[in-house]
Amino acid sequence: MAKKGDARVLIEMTCGDCKTHRYHSTKNKRNDTARLELTKFCPRCRQRRVYRETR
Ligand SMILES: [Zn+2]
Repeated sequence: MAKKGDARVLIEMTCGDCKTHRYHSTKNKRNDTARLELTKFCPRCRQRRVYRETR
């Protein structure tokens, strides 16, 4: 449950390669105003891929 006054927002990280696998995550909108990019393991690609924030 989200706390009131919390600066964290729910985001979706989508694999930039297959664009089908997603991770759900949260970010602090005060610290991260731009789009996030993370390298995570994609079970579809079976490799580490760059995940981009999608909404
Ligand atoms: Zn992928």
